[in-house]
Amino acid sequence: QTEIPQTNTHTKRLTHLPPLLPPLLSSLTQTSPPPFFQSSQNKPITAAMPEAPKPTQTSNGLTTIAIAEKNKRTLQFIEDVTSNPDDVQTQVLHEILSRNSAVEYLHHRHRLHGATDRRTFKKLLPVISYEDIHPDITRIANGDTSPILCSSPISEFLTSSGTSAGERKLMPTIAEEMERRSLLYSLLMPVMSQFVPGLEKGKGMYFLFIKSESKTPGGLPARPVLTSYYKSSHFKNRPFDPYTNYTSPNETILCPDSYQSMYSQLLCGLCQRTQVLRVGAVFASGFIRAIRFLEKHWQLLCRDIRSGTLDPTVITDPAVREAVLTKVLHRPDPELADFVESECRKDSWQGIITRLWPNTKYVDVIVTGTMSQYIPTLDFYSNGLPLVCTMYASSECYFGVNLNPLCKPSEVAYTLIPTMAYFEFLPVHRNNNNGVSNSISMPKSLNEKERQELVDLADVKLGHEYELVVTTYAGLYRYRVGDVLRVAGFKNRAPQFNFICRKNVVLSIDSDKTDEVELQGAVKNAVDAHLVAFGGSVAEYTSYADTKTTIPGHYVLYWELSVKGTTAIPPSVYEDCCLTVEESGTFDKLMDYAISLGASINQYKTPRCVKFEPIVELLNSRVEGSYFSPKCPKWVPGHKQWSNNVKN
Ligand code: AMP
Repeated sequence: QTEIPQTNTHTKRLTHLPPLLPPLLSSLTQTSPPPFFQSSQNKPITAAMPEAPKPTQTSNGLTTIAIAEKNKRTLQFIEDVTSNPDDVQTQVLHEILSRNSAVEYLHHRHRLHGATDRRTFKKLLPVISYEDIHPDITRIANGDTSPILCSSPISEFLTSSGTSAGERKLMPTIAEEMERRSLLYSLLMPVMSQFVPGLEKGKGMYFLFIKSESKTPGGLPARPVLTSYYKSSHFKNRPFDPYTNYTSPNETILCPDSYQSMYSQLLCGLCQRTQVLRVGAVFASGFIRAIRFLEKHWQLLCRDIRSGTLDPTVITDPAVREAVLTKVLHRPDPELADFVESECRKDSWQGIITRLWPNTKYVDVIVTGTMSQYIPTLDFYSNGLPLVCTMYASSECYFGVNLNPLCKPSEVAYTLIPTMAYFEFLPVHRNNNNGVSNSISMPKSLNEKERQELVDLADVKLGHEYELVVTTYAGLYRYRVGDVLRVAGFKNRAPQFNFICRKNVVLSIDSDKTDEVELQGAVKNAVDAHLVAFGGSVAEYTSYADTKTTIPGHYVLYWELSVKGTTAIPPSVYEDCCLTVEESGTFDKLMDYAISLGASINQYKTPRCVKFEPIVELLNSRVEGSYFSPKCPKWVPGHKQWSNNVKN
């Protein structure tokens, strides 16, 4: 394995690589930048498709041939970068390190001194987690604009759904990363169109939302990556493209009030029902929320469709009103209202998606990872339409795409696009927990031997599991993303990965990721605040993400309480419950169950989260009392210590 391009042949091969990035980004192309998608010979592709479609005009004036040509170039780009992943990765690392050679982190702290080769990089740079760069992040958040991690200015922070000490992680990003994210998005529909032709002839009904954002003390926006993307000109001012032609006008997506946003997006989706060819949301949970919203509010929606107006008490946002009334809800449509009413009134909502949107070919939602819990519900509502997981991405970096999108959810494999970042892989050694725990524990920091075990993208082995480590253009170096992936196959020479799990995460309902440490902390806080005074403590606990009985779902915590104090815990019912739970020994029963599956008593460790149905049933059968939190928790966007939290 050549790590440093020393030989002439190697260097020569590098010059024949396809462009890594869109022209704007490419620092390698000194002369006039080539068109973004080129063949591996660097010649623009002019040949017609083998089976040339007739040049019919779409509503936007693009011919089907033009679309097919564009798709072909995109697919060729994927061929090119997956054919030489190792060379592309060498080049990406070289580019990242040469641009950032003078930044504090690389030059002063880890003394890279301008080296851009893999060997030196791997020798000098530690493999890190968020906590390691927390002080740097805090400096940047507080307004230090010196080049600490990245030579380009940090344009904003992306708030990851992962947390650190109870606060959202802040991922630094730079303006040009938006181009890279756009690039990944641009790959999705050409891939999809190989399997489902004709998608350019209709629309996508996607439920997309922004979330509230805040500013750091230094004035940088802090918001989720999708909020950043939807608010950017890349999204808002996108040129007409049949593949980003959605039923939701931008104004409905950008509405900060989630109720009005959902209502107006559903209304627009219903009004354009026959044009809808695909439906979706980012995660499965978001799509199911939309269906549940429809279940609750179809009467109101039908009233607006019937009258051709928007109820002024429901939709108050002027931009949403104007967009919906001028672009979608042009006239009263009693016929449509009657139809929607008759469908929604039926006892069963099975197949409601195909009934209301009869031309839908697939449901585009992520159902890999923790979202797999929603597959049965989606199957029910969609009458078994294909569930399509198109991409794998995070706040740190967008990673890859699913090149076989119609495969079963359990077989989804993402091909990491080697131009997105420099990827490394830390082998994962699993502990067998007899299926009662879904958590994979990983060492917090790595010793020298473990650091040397990291392998490159081109060297991962089929069937092996790895934790993903990235080095990004925005200033993360050998950063542990926290996801565990398994090599499922290869596209050309680039590996494809099943998403296995997020390490240490035990609870997740939406995009939340509660790990064992956080769960432990939450239990401790509650005990310290409420039980200790009475000498009460929690002897054992476990938890369960209940996504079936309520939408949105909720966490169920099973506590086994022990009370040692002399003062009785009022009210007496609660005390009785505590004592009964303690005496009933639910967790002993859980241990019995695990042991019956073959676990040794010595190794038995109460799982902090359970999923397996019989175990949940067993826990429920021993419950002596249940309590729900009586009101919404207090929450403000941004970090607690920032005083200037703003809303949108
Ligand atoms: P965030 O940092 O909040 O943007 O969340 C990113 C994380 O979401 C990833 O690191 C994964 O754990 C998870 N995720 C993103 N895409 C997928 C996917 N296609 N399948 C499963 N999990 C995903």
